[in-house]
Amino acid sequence: MLRIGLGTDVHQLVEGRALILGGVTIPYEKGLLGHSDADVLAHALADAVLGALRAGDIGKLFPDTDPAWEGADSLKLLGRVAALMREQGFSFVDGDCVISAQAPKLSPYRDQMRANLAAALGVEASRIGLKATTTEHLGFEGRGEGISAQAVVLLATEGDDGRSCR
Ligand code: MG
Repeated sequence: MLRIGLGTDVHQLVEGRALILGGVTIPYEKGLLGHSDADVLAHALADAVLGALRAGDIGKLFPDTDPAWEGADSLKLLGRVAALMREQGFSFVDGDCVISAQAPKLSPYRDQMRANLAAALGVEASRIGLKATTTEHLGFEGRGEGISAQAVVLLATEGDDGRSCR
């Protein structure tokens, strides 16, 4: 059986926080605000996997009222989601992600982000696509008020590598 999942997330950019995307700490004058490390990319990807599992969302699994997740490394949350995926008999076939940020320039960090996300999911980096775009100064991302991320994933039950849908 094949399943698709879609995830999206937004966090506000503020002064006095580290900017962490895909587990990479990126030098910038601002960082993302959140209860955890606010890694918007890891959150979108985790929500995409949970969507494919029909297992709710990361807000349900890791509530921001729980002090256990305060300042949490979101790659660890993604690893927990991957463990749930395997418990439910699914494997990760492929995923693709987009980050929308006016600044900073993210392309130098793309491969490290892909490697980190793939490692958290327990798959090779070739299974994770990642792009970054500006929004041409439009909207909250374009004004530098926040960063958004989207992710789509394809999961398969063990023994179904996706060839059955060709
Ligand atoms: Mg989030």
